[in-house]
Amino acid sequence: MSQKILIIEDEKELADILGEYLKVEGFEVKICNDGQAGLDYFRKEQANLVLLDIMLPLMDGIAVCREIRSESDVPIIMVSAKSGEMDKVVSLGIGADDYVTKPFSPLELVARVKAQLRRYQGNAAKQNVPIKERICIGTLSLAPDSYEAYIEDTMLNLTTKEFEILLLFAKYPGQVFSKSQIYEQVWGYEGVCDDNSVTVYINRIREKLKKQGCTYIKTVWGAGYKLAIDA
Ligand code: CA
Repeated sequence: MSQKILIIEDEKELADILGEYLKVEGFEVKICNDGQAGLDYFRKEQANLVLLDIMLPLMDGIAVCREIRSESDVPIIMVSAKSGEMDKVVSLGIGADDYVTKPFSPLELVARVKAQLRRYQGNAAKQNVPIKERICIGTLSLAPDSYEAYIEDTMLNLTTKEFEILLLFAKYPGQVFSKSQIYEQVWGYEGVCDDNSVTVYINRIREKLKKQGCTYIKTVWGAGYKLAIDA
């Protein structure tokens, strides 16, 4: 079955050109011309990857990205008309996987689409490797085979990336990881190295732990983060 790319882009001509290039590569393509229509389509029909413009009618790409990311780990490539605008978006850490500034060559974009799909499928394959044992530290336990994390008996509602960061810490308790080490381990070398994203993810994990009364992730000033059990 061919993979489906959802293009959310209000410049119809650009969307059509991209669509044609992707179809030549064997992808199925769906084009939505505003943010709300794109989000509605994704919720109903899903897609293997989303190409998301930032300036869109009805709902902008940032809001669409946040909504999709709260529900799915689908690869998202953000597209922007201005590099300044893109800097702002990157610093928001909204969970996009890659960023492209217009004008770009359709071939470059197709290459990036393929890279993201490969990375995503690589992660999915890793998830299927059965690792039976659980990793337990204090009241925290992680099941790497099912991507589930618990504080005592309460399951933490973590996204895939949040789980992978926590798993990295849990495998090496007490070891300090810098933001760029976390980025390399969890996101790999593809895409934009984005320290801000790491901070955002760490904060989200901390909030979820805190709800269960845990403050296991410690900041080591000037060095990074580590997992340590409260005394
Ligand atoms: Ca636009």
